[in-house]
Amino acid sequence: METFKGNFTQQEPIPDEAIEAAVAVMQSGRLHRYNVAEGEAGAAALLEQEFAEAMGANFCLAVASGGYALACALRAVGVKPGDRVLTNAFTLAPVPGAIASVGAVPVFVGVTEDLVINLDDLRAKLDHTEVLLLSHMRGHLCDMDRLMALCDGAGVTVIEDCAHTMGATWKGRLSGTDGLVGCFSTQTYKHLNSGEGGLLITDDAEVAARAVMMSGSYMLYERHLAVPEPEVFEEVKYLTPNMSGRMDNLRAAILRPQLRKLPAQCEAWNARYRVVEEGLRGTPGLQVVERPDEEYYVGSSIQFLLLDWSEDKIDAVIKRCSARGVELKWFGGAEPAGFTSRYDSWHYAPSERMPDSDRVLKAIIDMRLPLTFDLDDCALIARIIRAEVGAVFQGN
Ligand SMILES: *Cc1c(COP(=O)(O)O)cnc(C)c1O
Repeated sequence: METFKGNFTQQEPIPDEAIEAAVAVMQSGRLHRYNVAEGEAGAAALLEQEFAEAMGANFCLAVASGGYALACALRAVGVKPGDRVLTNAFTLAPVPGAIASVGAVPVFVGVTEDLVINLDDLRAKLDHTEVLLLSHMRGHLCDMDRLMALCDGAGVTVIEDCAHTMGATWKGRLSGTDGLVGCFSTQTYKHLNSGEGGLLITDDAEVAARAVMMSGSYMLYERHLAVPEPEVFEEVKYLTPNMSGRMDNLRAAILRPQLRKLPAQCEAWNARYRVVEEGLRGTPGLQVVERPDEEYYVGSSIQFLLLDWSEDKIDAVIKRCSARGVELKWFGGAEPAGFTSRYDSWHYAPSERMPDSDRVLKAIIDMRLPLTFDLDDCALIARIIRAEVGAVFQGN
């Protein structure tokens, strides 16, 4: 019987070029982003300029984490304590956490079998709210044209959580550029790795200025390279509290060379994704998540559904795969575990039950595809899952 020996949490090493850039920052001693020599552009400012350029956005701000970027975006668009903010029922804990951190109230919108936000449920919940924090959870993009038309029609501002869609597109438009603000994470398991870190993009000058002030720019915002004109700050600087959450030059230095490799990395993830997807397709009892033609995804993880399976059987699949070295995560477990949890785990944000979403959430099996796996590894992983799902499905 075949077993897999790879490690699902092992990312690639930081590229040599990035290590050299990090060492240079450390040798300079100028790690704080505003601690720059006269006329020098620090790594954080350069990263912002390069990320704005890569995303085709007017403005960019680098911050301490993806979760910080989300909370900063919520505040910058004017969310106040007590406001209702729509978000996905299928997302990661930092997303409702960002809403709660500004004193607002998360209102969850259901998930479809395609693992995207349910647009009918969204339409039904658009009243009495001004903001949607849209999470492209695990890289699945909904019909962004329909979503934006619905939200624009209702006057609802969209903030995009692109933690899993950096580099992805909908009809050629980069994820994070449809909404008023796009937020990204550079935490180790995302598409760029600085341990912790976040990036925020927007074309809105006032939102950008508020976000920069909030992130802790003091009155040094002119040292940024991807911010609005100083005039915009004139109005904002007296009104915006400093909620310190900057990125430092060391992390930014690590990220800049990685950003240049992003398109190639996306292709490498997708090659792995397609091998696993093809290997799983047609397995009795297992539903592959079909991707729409309009979407260019980044397959840094893969999901499949065991729809309407009993908990015991799903549990058996996970244990049997684990015994053969394949680590699957289950969003449907009754208790939150590891990184996984779901809307009914967040008791601070009570929600009405959504039976259709519960059925989907219970069925979601999730697996990382780190780039340290090669295509043969991916084929082996798919064979193991296929065999174990098949065995449990047939009751062996
Ligand atoms: C990781 C993640 C975040 C938050 O990013 P951090 O940098 O860890 O704060 C937000 N949303 C989703 C869907 C994530 O996976």
